Amino acid sequence: MTILTDSPFHKPQLQLDDRLKKRAVEKILTKLCLTHENICKIREVFESEMRLGLARNSYRPSSLQMENTFIPKLPDGTENGDFLALDLGGTNFRVILLSLRPGQEGDFLVKYYSVPEHLRMGPGEQLFDFLASCIYHFLESNELLGNYYPLGFTFSFPMIQKALDVGILLTWTKSFNCSGVVGQDAVKMLNDAIARKGNMNVDVVAVLNDTTGTLVKGAYTDPDTAIGLILGTGSNACYLERIDRIEKWDKPGVTEVIIDIEWGAFGDNGVLDFIKTDFDRAVDCNSLLVHSFTFEKLFAGKYMGELVRHILIKLCREGLLFGGAPSETLLTFGSFTTADVSGIEGDNDDGENTRKILRRLGFAYPYTDDMLIVRHVCAVVTVRGARVVATCLSSLLDRMVKPEVTIAVDGSLFKHHPKFQRLMNDFIGDMLPEQKFKLMLAEDGSGKGAGLVAAVALKLREDSKKLIAKDNL
Ligand code: ADP
Ligand code: MG
Repeated sequence: MTILTDSPFHKPQLQLDDRLKKRAVEKILTKLCLTHENICKIREVFESEMRLGLARNSYRPSSLQMENTFIPKLPDGTENGDFLALDLGGTNFRVILLSLRPGQEGDFLVKYYSVPEHLRMGPGEQLFDFLASCIYHFLESNELLGNYYPLGFTFSFPMIQKALDVGILLTWTKSFNCSGVVGQDAVKMLNDAIARKGNMNVDVVAVLNDTTGTLVKGAYTDPDTAIGLILGTGSNACYLERIDRIEKWDKPGVTEVIIDIEWGAFGDNGVLDFIKTDFDRAVDCNSLLVHSFTFEKLFAGKYMGELVRHILIKLCREGLLFGGAPSETLLTFGSFTTADVSGIEGDNDDGENTRKILRRLGFAYPYTDDMLIVRHVCAVVTVRGARVVATCLSSLLDRMVKPEVTIAVDGSLFKHHPKFQRLMNDFIGDMLPEQKFKLMLAEDGSGKGAGLVAAVALKLREDSKKLIAKDNL
C-alpha cells in the first residue's frame, strides 16, 4: 500500500536543474523537514506534558497549563433565549446579541467599538466603565434596555479561572496595560461597572477565551465536536476531558469538562528544543515575548511569514538566492507575511503571485531558480506547521477514544491558507487510520461562542437551583 502522505504535496521537492545548488538549499532546510523519529518524539513529549499539566503534584512544571474552563456541558440545540456576548482582546472589541431558538441557526446582532488608547493604558476601572457604557449604548440603540440578558465575556488575556464566572487576570498582553486589574476578577470588575452605569439588567455569567468559544460554537451545529482549535494570529486548542483523568481538581457530579490546553506555550520549558532551528530562534529573538509561545512560533499567523523571511535571508547570504544580495525590504522585520505564504502556496503555474510578492520585496526580475526556491521554502515551512499541529491533534483524538470526533477550527491561517487544512487532514489520517474525524470551520467562537456559553451557564444555574430545591423538600 502506498503511504498517503508520501507525495510531493506532503513532502515538498525542490526541482532545480543545478544539482549542487539544490543540495546546498536542501541542506539548509534539513532540520525543518521533520523525520518520523521527530514526529514520534513530539507526540511523546506532548502526551507527557499533558499528563504533567493535569497532575496534582508534578515533579516539574509542565509547559501546558491545562486550564479548567468550568464548562461541563455543551449546547445541544435546545437553547432558547437572548444572550449577550462581549469580545475583548481580539482584533476588535464588540458587543453581540445572540437570539437562540431551538432548531434554528440563531439571529445575530453585532456592533463594533474602538477602545481609545488612554483607556487601554489607563486605570482599569475606567476601561470597565467604558465597556459597560458600550453595552448600554448597544442596548439603547436597539431599543432593548428594559430586558434581562445573561452575558458571556470573551476576555482573551491570560487568566486563571476559578469558576465559570470568575477569571483572574494574570497579565495584560497585546495593546492593553491598565492599572489595578492584574490579580482581579474580570467578571466582577465588569459586573461592578454595569451596576455603576445603572438602568441595565445585564448579568455576566461566564468568562471564556476564543478557543473554548470555538468548541462550543462547533458543538451547537455538530454534536460530535469535542476539540476546539485556533489557527490565527496565535494558536491554541481545547478538548473535552474525562473528569476522572484530571487529578488536580475534584469536580463531583460532572463527567467531562472542557480543558483549555494553552498549547501556544508548549515547549517553553525546553521540551521542544530538539526541533528548533536557527530560524525559529531568530523569530523568537525578534518577537515581543522572547522565550515564550514556542509552539505557536513554529507556524502561527503572526510568525510563519517571519520564519520564511529569515530562511530567505540565510539562503541569500549563502549566495543561493537573489544573486546573494538581500534587499533592504527583505531585511526589514515584518516585510513578508503569512498572507504572502498563502499567496505563494496558492500560486498558479505562471507564478503570478510569487512574482508580485518578490517585486514588492525589491526583486523585480527574479530568476526561475529564485522563484522555485521561494516556493519550496514556503511549502517546507507550511508542511512542518501542519505536521506539528496534526501530531498534537492525533494525540488528543487517541486520548479521547470517541468513535467520531469533529474538530471545530477558527482563524485566518485555517481559513485562508490554501494547503494547511488538507495537509493537517492527511497527516492525522495517516497517523490514525482507524479514527473517524472531521475538521470543521466554526467561525466566530469569540462572539457567537460566548453567547452560547452564556446559555450553557444559565442552564447550569437552573440545574443547580433545581437540585437545591429538591434537597430542601
Ligand atoms: P485573530 O487571531 O486576531 O482572532 P485571525 O484569525 O484573523 O485573527 O488571524 C489573524 C492572523 O492571520 C494574522 O496574524 C495574519 O498573519 C494571518 N493571516 C491573515 N491573512 C492570511 C492569509 N491569507 N493566509 C494565512 N494567514 C493569514
Ligand atoms: Mg480570532
